[in-house]
Amino acid sequence: MKKIGVLTSGGDSPGMNAAVRAVVRKAIFHNVEIYGIFHGYSGLIEGQIEKLELGSVGDIIHRGGTKLYSARCPEFKTVEGQKKGIEQLKKHGIEGLVVIGGDGSYMGAKKLTEHGFPCVGVPGTIDNDIPGTDFTIGFDTALNTVIDAIDKIRDTATSHERTYVIEVMGRHAGDIALWSGLAGGAETILIPEADYNMDHVISRLQRGHERGKKHSIIVVAEGVGSGVEIAKQVEEATSFETRVSVLGHVQRGGSPSAFDRVLASRLGAFAVELLLEGKGGRCVGIQKNELVHHDILEILDQPHTIDENMYQLSKELSI
Ligand code: ADP
Repeated sequence: MKKIGVLTSGGDSPGMNAAVRAVVRKAIFHNVEIYGIFHGYSGLIEGQIEKLELGSVGDIIHRGGTKLYSARCPEFKTVEGQKKGIEQLKKHGIEGLVVIGGDGSYMGAKKLTEHGFPCVGVPGTIDNDIPGTDFTIGFDTALNTVIDAIDKIRDTATSHERTYVIEVMGRHAGDIALWSGLAGGAETILIPEADYNMDHVISRLQRGHERGKKHSIIVVAEGVGSGVEIAKQVEEATSFETRVSVLGHVQRGGSPSAFDRVLASRLGAFAVELLLEGKGGRCVGIQKNELVHHDILEILDQPHTIDENMYQLSKELSI
């Protein structure tokens, strides 16, 4: 392969820039031309394609967001859209593509590979919801943002002896809630992967109150339901003064953590290696600190799971 492309797609995540930088530099290291496709699959269809140089990715390793921009592109879900994308790639002589994004973006990469255009997926999403990798790029940074918020909220929760419900991102995956709740010492963690009983949540709060606890923190993943609604139920059942904080998109931004920069650098470079070895239709990941790659189709068929032991531990430590 003499020319490859890279794009970022779907929800952005901190560390995508570090991944793009790694793809670009690794390709150039191997004397391969590298093209940036701007605005995800929609830019691909429209031909927003530019050759990148070493300097094109200078000074971005520490920046959140994505220099290549991201977009959602419904047209790419159609065969016509995918074919237009391939025409653009061929027009530029590009022979392989690195796609950095979440599972939706992986679907696009899978379709291109099925049409005979080799793609490798790099997991870029704060949700940590891609099977075949222990961590996705951006998860660690998002987690640290949430913990920073929980620590701050804890100060005011203690001063005012309040219960706080903190709603974090995660429509289908509870990893951000579970990890931040464990690291932030939350009394209760509600995640989409596990059923919960509101009576148990209330009695846990009441037990804490009876032994003199001044405040409580409940972390809820958005996929479980509205934090506002949960706070209302808590206040009605206990009469504890309860407040809600919905953290929202701050979780997506910010300078990537050291962990995410290193992960992005390793995975981005590995994706280029695979393409150069002629391996398409793969997605890269890290498992037990080893770089791994899997068939993208098999990964998309696997359900996301949370670490059950960690979930159990979070309950045991917050009795
Ligand atoms: P994420 O990659 O963060 O999961 P999305 O689910 O929004 O984000 O997907 C990003 C983009 O990937 C979509 O806007 C679309 O262009 C492309 N995509 C998603 N699903 C498919 C599909 N089934 N076939 C082809 N492309 C898809």
